[in-house]
Amino acid sequence: MTDNGVPAAAEPQVESSQQADPTRFGAFGGVFVPETLIGALEQLDRAFAQAYRDDRFWEELREMLRTYVGRPTPLCPAERLTSFVRSRARQGKGAAIWLKREDLAHTGAHKINNTIGQVLLAKRMEKSRVIAETGAGQHGVATATAAARFGLACEVYMGAEDARRQRLNVVRMRMLGAEVHEVTTGSKTLKDATNEAMRDWMSSVENTHYVLGSVVGPHPFPTIVRELQSIIGRETKGQSLRSFSKLPDAIVACVGGGSNAAGIFTTFIDDESVKLYGVEAGGTSSEIGQHAATLAVGSPGILHGAYSYVLQDEFGQTSDVHSCSAGLDYPGVGPEHAHWKETGRVTYTVRTDAQALDAFSLMSQSEGIIPALETAHAIAEAIDLAGTMDREQNLVICLSGRGDKDVEEVARLKGMLGEAAR
Ligand SMILES: *Cc1c(COP(=O)(O)O)cnc(C)c1O
Repeated sequence: MTDNGVPAAAEPQVESSQQADPTRFGAFGGVFVPETLIGALEQLDRAFAQAYRDDRFWEELREMLRTYVGRPTPLCPAERLTSFVRSRARQGKGAAIWLKREDLAHTGAHKINNTIGQVLLAKRMEKSRVIAETGAGQHGVATATAAARFGLACEVYMGAEDARRQRLNVVRMRMLGAEVHEVTTGSKTLKDATNEAMRDWMSSVENTHYVLGSVVGPHPFPTIVRELQSIIGRETKGQSLRSFSKLPDAIVACVGGGSNAAGIFTTFIDDESVKLYGVEAGGTSSEIGQHAATLAVGSPGILHGAYSYVLQDEFGQTSDVHSCSAGLDYPGVGPEHAHWKETGRVTYTVRTDAQALDAFSLMSQSEGIIPALETAHAIAEAIDLAGTMDREQNLVICLSGRGDKDVEEVARLKGMLGEAAR
């Protein structure tokens, strides 16, 4: 391993001999797509397997991550947040809290780790065009950014409702040279945008790569996105050893599709002393349609090409979802998370809109870091969890993104527009 945690030559976990079916995570995952996409997925699988064994691929990616994305991102101590937790905790309790600062990556979140890697793959496959789905617009912006950097045409599908709520990201994508298609079917949100992107891909696979934004979808996407995001975990491991001379005792990350969580968890999966926590969006209540707690409330089913947990009604119709954070507002979840839930390796919890909003303010005012609303769900969980841990222990929060995109929404939710938002 090099200084910034990137392996010099990667170990192909993709074809691990323990895993009978490489398209599956236990019972979950697989390839449930129309015939027309099978060829493209097989081509992608081969291209990734080749790239995985090719030092030049990792060298180019490493160089891009260093000089363009700004990696490694820091692991920094959250001293005032830790003091706050200790002031409320019992004697001797209150773990030291550390922040893995993905908010400092170019474009403000972890998403760029994946899009740079996938655009490099697209170039290896000699595709001249990329497409993407986007919810809040963060993945769309990260894809448009990578496409601009490498000179590929880029088209992004976004629900019309999301495009209205996140106008600034629509403008940003267009400024970066991407074409944005507003999707007016269904609930006009991420699920519908994903359907449209898949439809586009069916008729354009010859010259087009579909840059999926999370560890979801058919094989090989969940594996590719996890591997590209695992830089977060590898850096965190090296930085933990340097900063506090041991592994973290707990790691907390928010889960939408699950890519920032998978990225930081993967490296620690075999380190049993490290407890892993994934936090889903509890929205406004546990009623169907008012949350996005797929693993907590959903059931196994098929969505967007993979068998995983899905929020669905008794007839298998995908449910409406709600979260104050657009990035967690998705009725599915990555199949590997379904597997980690089943095996018990990762503990999945739920935090509501209100709890996320409180944590958003606490992080802003105790550390001077305005987090993304998605991340605020992980922060809410981490604050309570740290209070139950011993003082000698260390807890890492994956600070998946910065909250600039959310300030207006938070001000609105707190009824603070026109006043100081506190
Ligand atoms: C998109 C996004 C998420 C949710 O996506 P995952 O695939 O679950 O990581 C979380 N945080 C931020 C900042 C995001 O932009």
